[in-house]
Amino acid sequence: MSLISCPKCHSQISDEAENCPCCGYPISRLAKLKSGIHLIEHKKTIVDVQSVYAWSMMVVGFVLIVALPFDSLGGSVSRALGALLIIVGMVWSVVVGLTKWWSH
Ligand SMILES: [Zn+2]
Repeated sequence: MSLISCPKCHSQISDEAENCPCCGYPISRLAKLKSGIHLIEHKKTIVDVQSVYAWSMMVVGFVLIVALPFDSLGGSVSRALGALLIIVGMVWSVVVGLTKWWSH
């Protein structure tokens, strides 16, 4: 383990760190892959985009639940899928909220 300079904020950080502890810039290969296309964007923007995704997931889930007749077979499948989307969306928005809170 050695110290390197963060390409974004120039803090001295461990080369084994996944992200820069100061500015959140992805350091490891994995973190760079994860952030993908958003690499050059500001971290706050990524978080905001993610919360939009989370909310749209919940909206789609809600639509799936109410869209089809209650007693049809397709209805129960889409309700299960809709409920799943809402749960994932909720968990996601909580995680995004925590990330936002953590980065402040
Ligand atoms: Zn940094």
